[in-house]
Amino acid sequence: MTTTARRAALDRLARQLDTPTPSVPGQLAMQIKAAEDKPPKVCEYGNPRCGAVPVRHYIGGFFCADHPAGRPAPRPTTEQE
Ligand SMILES: [Zn+2]
Repeated sequence: MTTTARRAALDRLARQLDTPTPSVPGQLAMQIKAAEDKPPKVCEYGNPRCGAVPVRHYIGGFFCADHPAGRPAPRPTTEQE
């Protein structure tokens, strides 16, 4: 492709991009908001909140590894002989 032909092709493409898209019946052009930055999920156990990160999602909410499914972690039992 020669330089002149390439330039003509690029001009043609630029013109296509500059033309507004035709309105399509049944479709409504609307502004869509960008996704909002949400705070990270923290452990919901206790009052005040545990607040640990990372968390897993359980049925009752988001909980850390120390509070699986919203319950306190089982205490380590004293070792018996
Ligand atoms: Zn926790």
